[in-house]
Amino acid sequence: MKKIIFLDVDGVLNGRPHFLEYWWWHLTKDIKKKLWPYLPTGGINNMEFRYARRLEQLVRRTGAFIVISSTWRHTYPRPRQWGPLLELAGAPMAAHRVVGITGSLGAFHTFEPVRGNEIELWLQDHGCYQKDDVKYIILDDDSDMTEEQKESHFVHVKGSMGLRRKHVKEAVGLLGKREKDLLRSWQPEVIARKAIFVEGDTYEVTDL
Ligand SMILES: [Mg+2]
Repeated sequence: MKKIIFLDVDGVLNGRPHFLEYWWWHLTKDIKKKLWPYLPTGGINNMEFRYARRLEQLVRRTGAFIVISSTWRHTYPRPRQWGPLLELAGAPMAAHRVVGITGSLGAFHTFEPVRGNEIELWLQDHGCYQKDDVKYIILDDDSDMTEEQKESHFVHVKGSMGLRRKHVKEAVGLLGKREKDLLRSWQPEVIARKAIFVEGDTYEVTDL
C-alpha cells in the first residue's frame, strides 16, 4: 500500500504570522518591533517547528510519502531540495519521504479546482490514479479541490491556525496506520503525458 500526502506549506506548516506577509511592509516601525517576538524563527513566511513536528508524527504513524503541492514548489522545484528544508524545520523522517512535486496549471482567479486538478494530474502521471494500492490525502488551507477529493481525501486546515492535532488524527484515519512492510523508499514511475489547455481553464490530458 502506497500512501501519499499532498502537502501545502503556507497555512499548514506555518500559522497566523504567515498572514502578516501581505501587510507587513505597510506597518510602522513601532508595530513591527512589537510583533517581532511573536513571529516564527527566521521571520515571517517560514516553516514552524510545532507544525513540522505534527507532520513528522503523521508520517511516522502512517508511513506515507510526500508530494509538494504548495506554491513553495516554484522556489524549490526538486524533491531533493525539500530534505534539508523539512529537516531544519523539525521533520527529519518526513524530510526523507518527499517523492514529488505537482505540476502547475497556472490559472488564477477562477472557480476551477486548480490545485485539485494539479494533484489529480500528478496521480495520473505517476500511475497512482484510482489504484487500489494507493491512498492519498491533501493537507491544505485552500479549498480548490475537486468534489471527489473533498469527499474522501481532503483534510482542510485552517490557514491562521496551521496543522493541528485533530488534522493529524483525521489524516491518520484516512490513510490508515503504518503497516509492518513499510516502504522505505519509493520512486514513482513517470508516465509521459501532456496537459493541454483547451478553452480558458479547462484542460485535456494526452499520452505522448
Ligand atoms: Mg496554503
